[in-house]
This record gives sequence, structure tokens and C-alpha cells, in this order.
Amino acid sequence: MMLPAPGFEGFEKRLEVEFSPASAACSPRGLRNMPRAKIDELLTLAECTIVSQLSNELFDSYVLSESSLFIHPFKLVIKTCGTTALLKAVPTLLKHAAELDLKEHRVKYTRGTFNFPAVQPYPHGSFAQEIEFLEQHFGHLGAGGKAYVLGAPDQFPNWHVYEAASSGNQAGAEPTFTLEMCMQKLDSTKAAQFFKAAGFADAKAMTVASGIDTILPGSEIDAFDFEPCGYSMNGIENRAFSTIHITPEDAFSYASFEASGYAPQEQSPHEMVQKVLGVFNPGRFSLALSADGKVGAAGAGAWGVSPAFAGYVCDGTIRQEMAFGAALVFHTFKAVGSAPAEVEVCVPEPLFADREVEKLYALAAKKRAAFAKEKLQKLHGGSGDLWEALAPLGDEVATAVASFKPTLASVGSPRDVDKYAQNFIKQNGQEAPFMMFDLGMVARLYDAWTTTMPRVEPFYAVKCNGDPALLAVLAALGANFDCASLAEMQAVAAAGVGPERIIYANPCKLESHLRHAVSTGVKLTVFDAEDELYKIKKVHPGAELLLRIRADDVGAQCPLGSKYGAEFDECEPLLRVAKRLGLSCVGVSFHVGSGAASAQSFVEAIKAAKLVFEMAEGLGMPKMKVLDIGGGLSVGGKLTFSAAGAAINKALEKFFPEEEGVKVIAEPGRYFAEAPATLAALVFGRRLRGLRHAHTKANEYYINDGVYGSMNCLLYDHATISARPLRVSGGLRLLDEKMYRSTVFGPTCDGLDQVLTDVWLPKLEVGDWLLFPNMGAYTLAAGTSFNGFATSDIKTHYLWSEGDRLPFGEEEPGSDSDSHFGDAAMDSSDTGSDGGEFQSEGEAAKEESDETASLSGSDDDAYY
Ligand SMILES: *Cc1c(COP(=O)(O)O)cnc(C)c1O
Repeated sequence: MMLPAPGFEGFEKRLEVEFSPASAACSPRGLRNMPRAKIDELLTLAECTIVSQLSNELFDSYVLSESSLFIHPFKLVIKTCGTTALLKAVPTLLKHAAELDLKEHRVKYTRGTFNFPAVQPYPHGSFAQEIEFLEQHFGHLGAGGKAYVLGAPDQFPNWHVYEAASSGNQAGAEPTFTLEMCMQKLDSTKAAQFFKAAGFADAKAMTVASGIDTILPGSEIDAFDFEPCGYSMNGIENRAFSTIHITPEDAFSYASFEASGYAPQEQSPHEMVQKVLGVFNPGRFSLALSADGKVGAAGAGAWGVSPAFAGYVCDGTIRQEMAFGAALVFHTFKAVGSAPAEVEVCVPEPLFADREVEKLYALAAKKRAAFAKEKLQKLHGGSGDLWEALAPLGDEVATAVASFKPTLASVGSPRDVDKYAQNFIKQNGQEAPFMMFDLGMVARLYDAWTTTMPRVEPFYAVKCNGDPALLAVLAALGANFDCASLAEMQAVAAAGVGPERIIYANPCKLESHLRHAVSTGVKLTVFDAEDELYKIKKVHPGAELLLRIRADDVGAQCPLGSKYGAEFDECEPLLRVAKRLGLSCVGVSFHVGSGAASAQSFVEAIKAAKLVFEMAEGLGMPKMKVLDIGGGLSVGGKLTFSAAGAAINKALEKFFPEEEGVKVIAEPGRYFAEAPATLAALVFGRRLRGLRHAHTKANEYYINDGVYGSMNCLLYDHATISARPLRVSGGLRLLDEKMYRSTVFGPTCDGLDQVLTDVWLPKLEVGDWLLFPNMGAYTLAAGTSFNGFATSDIKTHYLWSEGDRLPFGEEEPGSDSDSHFGDAAMDSSDTGSDGGEFQSEGEAAKEESDETASLSGSDDDAYY
């Protein structure tokens, strides 16, 4: 590499331009059709050349004499260092793109602060000059370009960003995540590996010896070594790329790392950074994380998880919103002493905020609280018989459930649920929708929990489903409880649960509810804000507190991080306040989001919690002793329970080894409540449009529960639901019955009240029923009585299934045979059978065990 005085500029200039087809004639290969001669022409203008090339089906990567170039069909990314004149290539690039029928629609230019600005050529003489040049070529996009300098004036480096984008339709575009590190003052032994004199045969050997090949082990690497020193590489992996450039000379040593196109759940950014730091040991570095494109609900907090790195202190952090929902976070770090005790943490603002989700959640929580109270009052009204089938659980349960009157049937498989429903409907001329809750399955889920994660004590989150029988059964099994309000604490107490088994896990509590906690002896609670500490000091000074930290799973069904959880940099100040007030801070809690998608989110969160434990110790506070890993788990979701359990156990062993005596608890809601419940709803109206116009229209059915009732989970819980038909009114149905595209509406007059869209169902009669499985979480708890259809009128029938059947595919093949019916109300001479299994696409996994039961059964397949 050329070394102009006074030193070589390591900091790259990076330009990213996105294009769209200007006409239908444009080739899908887009920019990739640009002939090599034209690419060379561009690079000559920028003052660099290609030294190596690598491609896959999706894009081309070039290592340049000064950094890298990536050409995708509709996007070009070029990075050049030193005194190159990158922007000079812009006019010609736009001209060549136009020849390929491409039109630019977005541009982003970024760079760090130059070490040697005086030697930069035009138009890189200053940021102002660069902006002026960029505006000439991209100022016509949208409302014109925007430029930012991120970082305090005394901070080095600052991050310079220019972007412009046309206001064209970006919706649906997947966000692209990019991580860029600029490292200085490299460890001299590490840097020495990138001199030819170090004796490595070639760039490939340098890649392996330095450990660069372990950073993204799945990528194909194209590496190049320079004379007499210096190293560049591009890595490509599917749609993602990475690149490293090293200037190892001691006086101005520099290395950069970039990874772009990886989804955060595929590659933990934190882990990537840690590996890169391991390769270079820089004295200081900057980290820019950005997400371009529509991040939406899925992005909340995505990359905000614990950017704390052992041996470094973060001395600056800033977040900038960009056009179209994109965002960028920029941090600078410097090395501190190498003793592990000096780990310092700094977690900045999360990368994304999602106000929409936050709004929905506030609304849903309000409704849930009001409804739970109403429902509990209703159910406690009756005086009931002893619940015989609960006898195996002991007297405690029987006593606890004696205060209300359940209907109980004993069933053995999902088909028995169908049979039970069919009999009940026939014998009672049933019209109203009803819920069937399998408490036997709850017991087996509890068993599965304690076997999978023996160290983790479950505190069932009552808000998920406050059904008193569910609470009673869980209490009898030995579960503890997470309550968020006064009514929930009362409901749990009514199930015979003492205060020591309750965590009041609402980070932001009403004073009157907190007084109730004091008077009933509930001590364990959580906080995430300074004002909450003053409230607790005033009302409940003897409380035992967990600091709730933010730790989001980007893919969770319902993210919670925008509402609750202290950011990492807030933790230390909060702990100091708690200490000053003499409050007892006994541990840390988090909730990665309900319906978590990745086990890694738990691992990251447990790691972050460990740092807070250390932080408290560093402040001279008594050793913390409780870790609360929150809720989020489900059965039948993307993330399997056994995979999550294994990852959690491993992380606990690593960060909270058993011998240290930290008590680990969790707050599962969905895990216990979702799968055991099946809802039955009546088809009371139809329009058979799909019979005549199968290609354009769907059959339409109207059922007596909908999104204002138990199916509010479609709105508030971001749920997907499925249904199987249940024939009660007669008519022969064969398994190969013709299926039609169908839409199912709820009973209210609102057009929003639509339950299933475009699913495949056989032709249904008015008077047939639909059964909806997995309806126990965040359903009855939040319905309304809108339009006169009261959710609180939906009665729950308690079933008790025997055998080994679990909702996550561990079903005993012969489980059908051990079904038995203990309930006198069941007419066992009835020849009715189940109604077959149909479901919307996407629910296949959730319903797998049901499906297997239906299709492999030896029972009659034709009936009625
Ligand atoms: C809602 C909630 C839970 C339960 O979450 P699931 O995803 O249903 O397991 C647990 N803890 C707290 C603090 C909650 O708000």
C-alpha cells in the first residue's frame, strides 16, 4: 500500500447506492451486468484497482488495492481507504447504471474522522465539501439529502453520515443490518502477523493464524496480502458479506471490520465484535450499528443488547434515526486495564423504538386487568361439588377448587376433546361458544418444565390466563406466581397461595396495589426506574427488589422492551439510588418478549444479568441472590421448549454456576396456558361464494366468537390461529372431501372482526362448529362485550386428559386407546367421532401432534 506522509489513513470512506429498475426491460441481474471494463473505469476515477474477485449466485465481491467493492443486482457498496477519491466515481457510476436501465433511489455515505484530513483530495477535503458534492448528484432524491456528524466534538472518531432517499415505496423491504468497526492502536504482536516478514506462506495462512477465519465460520473468504505488509479480505455468505482491512504499521496501526446482511438472530452482533476484538486487541475502537429498510415491529431493541466488552470502557454513544424507519447507533470504546474486574459496561439507547407496539400493549393491558377482575368475581360466585378427578393431586387442590363449579370430563387425546364437545353440544342444544381447558395437560407441562430446567422455579404469570382452576392446579403442583396487580394477588391467594410464593412483577406499580402487597406480606417485586424506588421506599421499604433490565428477542411474537426494562447504562445509577435509600436489591429480572423466537436471546440476557450482579458487587452492595429469567417460552412455536431449556441451562451453568447459590426463577405464562385450551364456536351464518367462484372468492362463514372476544389474541397477542370443523348437524364426511378457500368472520358488525382469512375448509353447514386449539394464552383474559357479545359469558369446561400426551410432539402413539370417559353427561353409545383436522397454513407445526393423531388413528374415517 502507498504510504503518503504523514501516515496512512486507515479510516475508510464508504458509499452505498441502491437502484431500482427504471423500466420493465431492466434485467434482474441489474448492476451485475456491468462489464468489467466499466467497473475498472469507475475504480480508476476513485484511484484504486481490483486485486481479487469472488462471487456467489446473489452478488459479486472484489478486493481492491484500497479496500472493497460489492455489487448486488440493485445495490453497490464500495469502501476505500487512504487518499482515494471515492466520490469522483459517482457521476460515472450513475451514468453506467442508467445504461442498464437502473435508477438510483437511495444513497448512504459514511466515514470516521480522518486522522490526516489535510492530505485528502477533492471532494474529500472536508465533510462540507463532500456533502456539497453528494447533493449535486443525489440531492434530487426525496426531500434532498441529510447529513449528520455523530459524537461529541472531543470524541474520536466522530461518525459522518450523509443519506438521501426517494420517497418511493419501501414497504416490505427487509431491513439490512450492518455492523462496522474501526480499530486503532492494534496490539503489536497481533499486528505483526500481517507483515510478509512474519513468514506466512500467503494471505490464506494469515487468515487462519490470526483467527480471522473463526469470526464468521460459514463464509467463503477471499483474502489478499500486500507488500511489505497489510491485509484485506472479503467474506461472502448467502446474501451477507463481511470485510476486513488491516494497516499494521505500529505508528498508525488500524483495522476495520464490517458485516452486512446478517440478521441479528443469525449472528449475534455482540459475539461478532467480541471475536474481532480477540483478533486485534485494539487500544480503542468505534462501533456503528445500522439498520436500513423497514424495521417495523420486529426490530424493537434489536441490537441494543449489552454492548459491553471486557477490558473496554464505552466513552460515547449516540443514536440517530434515518429516513424510512432506519436507524444508526454509534459507540466509541477505549481499553482499560486488562484485569477482568475492570469490566465496564455501557449500553446505549436501543437501536429501534416501536411506538405502535407500545400503544397496543398499554391498551391491551388495561383491558386485560379489567376483564380478569370481572371474570374472577363471576367464577367465584358459585358453590360447587368436590372435583373428584383432581383427587390425584391431593386435598389441597380439591379444597382450592371447591369454591367454584367446574364441569369435568376425562379425555385422552385431541379426538376426545372433539367427542366431548360434540356430545355436550348435542345434549344441551348448545349455541354459545365455550372453552375446553385440559388441566391434565397442565400437569404434564409442569412435569416437563421441572425435568427440562430443574434449576428454574416457575412463577406462573397470572395475566396470561387468570382462570381459577388453572391457578389451583398450578398451585397444587407447586408452582409459584407472578402477579401484576391487586386483583391478581387476590386471585392467587384465593387458590391457597401464600405471599412467599408470589412475585409482584410489575415494574411500575400503583401505590394502592403496593400497599396491598405490604398488608398481605408480598415482598418480592421489581423496578426499572428511579421514581419507582422512591415509591417503594415510601410504601414498602422492606421489599426485596429485582432490577428489571431490557433484553429483547428481536423475533418475539410480542416484544415488551419498549415499555419495560432498564437500559444497561441506567443500571448503575439505579443501583446507586437503591443503595442510598437503603433498599434491598436482591437480583435481576428480564423478559425477552412473549413468544420468544431465539434461545440466544436468553443467553445474551443471562450474560447481561451477570454483569449487573458484578456491577452491584462493585458498588459494595450485598451479593445478589435471585435471577429471574422472565417469560417468553411457548410450546409448538418456532423455538422449541427443549432447545430453549438446553441453552438456558448451559448459560446458567456458565454465568451462574450452581455452587454460587443464586436462586433462578422464571415467569412463564404462555407456556402453561396456551396449549391446553380449545375453543368451540358455532357457525351460525354463511355465504357460499367460493362454490361458484372458486378462483376469485372464498366461502364465508360467521361464527359466534371473534376478535372482540377470545380471539382478541389476533390483535393484541399477534397470534395466528387455526380451526378444525366439528359436524354436529349430520351429513357424511370423508377425509378426501373437497376443500374450498374459506374466510371466517366473528359475530360483531365490525369489518375488522375476521378470524381466519383464506384457509381451506370443507363446505360447512349452518349449525356446524369450529374448534380452535391453543387458545389459552391472552384470549379470554382480554375480550370485551362489544356489540352485545360478552366474552365473560364464554364458559370454561375443565377436562382432564390422562396419558403422556404433550403439546409438543411427544405424544404416545397409542394414547387414543387409554382414553376413558368418566363424566356421566357423556353419551358413550353415541357413534359420533371427531370432525377431522384442518388448519391454516403456518400452523402446521403447532398442530403437528393433533394432525398425527387424526391421520394415523385406526378409527373410522367416515362418520355421521
Ligand atoms: C406477560 C409477562 C410474563 C409472561 O410472559 P409469557 O410470554 O406469557 O411467558 C412474565 N413476566 C412478566 C413481567 C410479564 O409482563
